[in-house]
Amino acid sequence: MEKVISIIIPAYNEQENVSLVAKAIKDVFQNIQNYDYRILFVDDGSTDNTLQKIKELSAQDNHICYLEFSRNFGKEIATTAGIQHCQGDACIMVDADLQHPVDLIPKFIAKWEKGADIVTGIREKNKNEGWIKKVGSYFFYKIINAIGDVKVVPRATDLHKKKKKVIKEYKRFTEKERMTRALIDWMGFKRDYIYFNANERANGEASYSKFKLLKLALNSFVSYSLFPLRLAGYLGFLIIFTFGPAGLFILVGKYFLNNSFAWSFSGPAQLAILLAFLIGIILVSLGLISFYIAAIHREVLNRPLYVVRESKFD
Ligand code: UDP
Ligand code: MG
Repeated sequence: MEKVISIIIPAYNEQENVSLVAKAIKDVFQNIQNYDYRILFVDDGSTDNTLQKIKELSAQDNHICYLEFSRNFGKEIATTAGIQHCQGDACIMVDADLQHPVDLIPKFIAKWEKGADIVTGIREKNKNEGWIKKVGSYFFYKIINAIGDVKVVPRATDLHKKKKKVIKEYKRFTEKERMTRALIDWMGFKRDYIYFNANERANGEASYSKFKLLKLALNSFVSYSLFPLRLAGYLGFLIIFTFGPAGLFILVGKYFLNNSFAWSFSGPAQLAILLAFLIGIILVSLGLISFYIAAIHREVLNRPLYVVRESKFD
């Protein structure tokens, strides 16, 4: 039986690109035997003629289906909707702007057939990426891998290919703010990687603005790491363990040992040390509260407790 691959394409104001990307994918599949494909466009509330174009394509070709969002919800949500609605044995996410080289699809299929559950494309370089995005993405991965609960593979793009069981497990995530690739990394599974060079965007401007990317980055820090929350506590410990001994030294030195160095601290200085010590206590208390908030946070995220790779019951 032919296996069916779903190609999920989030599209936001891509009127010139949707037919190009559909054509490119069609060409690729014409050269692959034993695999059929479906293209699932997710129109992310485009304000231009993207939807119109997608509808035309879908009318001409029954490989092509679509989902129209009522407004712009962002790419992460669009890809998630695609995963939730796609059919077939595996899915792959491709950008509408032809930046992902679709002729790599056979390679993805090959890796998948060799046993990988998730095949991730890793972008080697992005020609039209400005320095802000480059520096930003460098620090983003550095920070999230340093403080996060999951390891996110640097420069992994959303050119992902996943098997049915991964899709099934992915549908169990309920969190609202999400970064698709970090969730996929969180899930584990057998993974494989393909390195590629991103093309230039075919038409139009990148709509993933720097602001949106920053927002995504901040959201990811919050959802994938509790470190920012614990920072107050760590700071508190630091303060207590520096100012506590200092204060103690001055008190004991002045009133018990009559040490001249201890006497060199004025009354106000003593008061400042006392205040810092008390602030330290407050911060540590905040840190303690953060543990409870973290527990609530985990409950609210409602992530699946575990992800099953295989089972045999009957
Ligand atoms: N996209 C989307 N919703 C958005 C922004 C972007 O669905 O709010 C889609 C867009 O149509 C494209 C992909 O996400 O298919 C990547 O976006 P873009 O090229 O703007 O960003 P890049 O990652 O290339 O900088
Ligand atoms: Mg792009």
